[in-house]
Amino acid sequence: MKTLIKDCCIIKMTNENEIIKKGYILIEEDKISKIGEGEYKDLKDEKLNIIDGEGTAAIPGLINTHTHCSMTLLRGYGEGLPLMKWLNEKIWPFEAKLDAEDIYIGAELAALEMIKSGTTCFLDMYYFEDDICKAVGQSGIRGIICTPVIGDDWQQRIERFKAFYKRNNGSFDGRIINMLAPHAPYTCTRESLEQSAKAAKEMNCGLHIHIAETLDEVETINKTYGCSPVEFLEQTGIFENKVIAAHCVHISDKDMEILKKYNVTAAHCPQSNMKLSSGISPVSKMLALGINVSLGTDGASSNNNLDMIEEMQTASYLQKLSTSDATALSPYETLEMATVNGAKALGLEKEIGKLDVGMKADIVLIDLNKPHMVPIFDVCANIVYSGSGKDVKTVIVNGKTVMEDYVVKTMNEKDILNSVKKSVENILSRQ
Ligand SMILES: [Zn+2]
Repeated sequence: MKTLIKDCCIIKMTNENEIIKKGYILIEEDKISKIGEGEYKDLKDEKLNIIDGEGTAAIPGLINTHTHCSMTLLRGYGEGLPLMKWLNEKIWPFEAKLDAEDIYIGAELAALEMIKSGTTCFLDMYYFEDDICKAVGQSGIRGIICTPVIGDDWQQRIERFKAFYKRNNGSFDGRIINMLAPHAPYTCTRESLEQSAKAAKEMNCGLHIHIAETLDEVETINKTYGCSPVEFLEQTGIFENKVIAAHCVHISDKDMEILKKYNVTAAHCPQSNMKLSSGISPVSKMLALGINVSLGTDGASSNNNLDMIEEMQTASYLQKLSTSDATALSPYETLEMATVNGAKALGLEKEIGKLDVGMKADIVLIDLNKPHMVPIFDVCANIVYSGSGKDVKTVIVNGKTVMEDYVVKTMNEKDILNSVKKSVENILSRQ
């Protein structure tokens, strides 16, 4: 059955001037087959499932390019501590107690939260990745699920990744994709980074890594290798693959040249950088140099939610503040980071990130019939500056409606919230 979304404003993200004030989107199977202004004319000839888009704006599904999904279980745990004390005394001991079932429940909670706030695709880095694939696949959204490489058993992890990749890559109608995730230059050895780069080449998959998140990291790498984290990673061969580099906060002009040379994407996570007091990434400068910059929330314990609309607002305001330029990072440019640039980061730019004929039907309808959304002079400004994930009304992924009129269809919200509460009680009671 075909689905028709009618009478909605459409922000295609193909061109800043191409915003349709009132139009329609026709979905056939998993793709957009028609999109246009006014009314869809062949209405009487076809059997259609109709979604009334009156009072909404359609945007491409948002793409979160850096998170650790099951860290939803640690939301709000051990707040108010300095970074190393927080990690050593709270986060790492809690994580050590997690089992596969906890991770599955945490991933379900993350998927539910993402659907409800308009994220249709995300890039992840966390343990028990088979269980994450299962939870995300069943939820109906897209997930790029990675195997983390960290610690002494890195060789086994890389080997395990190859089997994991064969099992899961392309599963759930192609909504699940797999990549390898060497954690960071300061938590991985030179050899493990070199071998990760080699494995990614062999499997023809991308790499997901944290780079230059804190000044501490830059100092550590400088002391150990006599160069910056970006320069060091260039030596390991990591950048000869498709790379999504989370954070890129403390980077030099020379580092930026390297990122540009290898088409590395910087995944900007402004709220996490603010909360952990890491610093401000030079996003406007990177964009001006032609570096692809996408957006991510990071894990829920350093944010503390997965709301990409809120993240867009923070990204834009933070650049205006740090560059002393009120025109920095316009609402449209910020929306590009959360859609078009995210798709490009993942190598999926021909499938998602825009609303156009032939693209996958990953569509989010934003409710504009709310007090904080009127009047509408600039619909992109209303979404980025006035809106939040709570304004997401309907979500379609791969042609299937996963949420309609605020009701999630693929998951039982009440059951998931109860399981999370039980799971956390259980984890805390373990020795
Ligand atoms: Zn992270």
